[in-house]
Amino acid sequence: MKVGCVKEIKPQEFRVGLTPEAAHELVGHGHDVLIEAGAGVGSGFEDADYVAVGARIAQDAAQIFAEAELVVKVKEPQPAERKMLRPGQVLFAYLHLAPDPAQTQDLLASGATCIAFETVTDRAGGLPLLAPMSEVAGKLAPQMGAWALQKANGGRGVLMGGVPGVAPAKVVVIGGGVVGTHAARVAAGMGADVTVLDRSLPRLRQLDDLFGGQFRTGYSSGKLLADLVAEADMVVGAVLIPGAAAPKLVTRAMLGTMKPGAVVVDVAIDQGGCFETSHATTHQDPIYEVDGIIHYCVANMPGAAARTATLSLGNATLPFVLALADKGWQRACTEDPHLRAGLNVHAGQLTCPPVGAALGLPT
Ligand code: NAD
Repeated sequence: MKVGCVKEIKPQEFRVGLTPEAAHELVGHGHDVLIEAGAGVGSGFEDADYVAVGARIAQDAAQIFAEAELVVKVKEPQPAERKMLRPGQVLFAYLHLAPDPAQTQDLLASGATCIAFETVTDRAGGLPLLAPMSEVAGKLAPQMGAWALQKANGGRGVLMGGVPGVAPAKVVVIGGGVVGTHAARVAAGMGADVTVLDRSLPRLRQLDDLFGGQFRTGYSSGKLLADLVAEADMVVGAVLIPGAAAPKLVTRAMLGTMKPGAVVVDVAIDQGGCFETSHATTHQDPIYEVDGIIHYCVANMPGAAARTATLSLGNATLPFVLALADKGWQRACTEDPHLRAGLNVHAGQLTCPPVGAALGLPT
């Protein structure tokens, strides 16, 4: 099969849909791999790295969309890319159609088959192509928070690990899922005094079994949360209620109880954030201050670690990319219900019921 990968054109997107390793595997399976010139540069891959494993380089995206039967990319296709999609072509990427009627209409009109990373499932009921980005964002959260805690950035000037004779920073992580667990592990690894709060008792048991010596766990009640937030040097927001906006667990009034220069890192900002005072920021201008508290609310945190994020996403997508290329989308989706769960659009029809329900369209 002809498999193509275009350079991402969404602003500040440095990831790439196929790594040279993925291209190597596809070529090894007998596929013709076409990569747009410069597609891998943001993640540290040169065109020569792809050529070395047997891929061909295309001068522009138009050539890829014209030739490829399967197009693999990272972010949802932008309007210019949507115009180039054609009937019979398969697109495999993050789509996030539910809040995006304009993109949905364009994909329906294209006649293409569009499989979304974010709705592919796994046997444990998880979302295996979203989890890698939560891992990256979780591990970045204490790193970014520690930077914001530095005096020159408006923070309290507290060192995460303390030093002999001086206590470490107190870190509270709200939400003990994928983001929260990775954030807590890194914060604890930096030497901070860490507490993770969740409302799921099975999750708290699991965390205690696995990491009992490294950080404490707590049930996320209003009183405990308020007490811990008041004492914290850093609070990481990592809650998720699937399909809903993040609950505003830390109110503006609670900021008034915090120590001046404390930091909040709202990873859940892509779902609206769990601090009342959060608004989305960018890597260029990542922090702002409200009532003496420094806020870090970057909505696409993995972009800061584009190479790690690309490699991690590539590990997760590769088995599905190979199945689509080896078997064709119909057989691949028939044999694997988890990949079938990713099918959002086919030949002018919406095929993902939750997306249809969100948009008020038939599936
Ligand atoms: P997850 O489902 O693995 O974990 C969420 C956890 O929140 C669950 O354990 C759940 O029990 C817990 N929770 C729900 N309500 C709670 C409450 N009131 N108090 C405490 N805990 C509560 O989700 P995840 O993959 O860890 O993602 C967390 C958030 O981070 C999501 O909003 C996700 O979209 C976001 N995210 C943001 C970025 C970014 O760049 N900003 C990157 C990746 C993920």
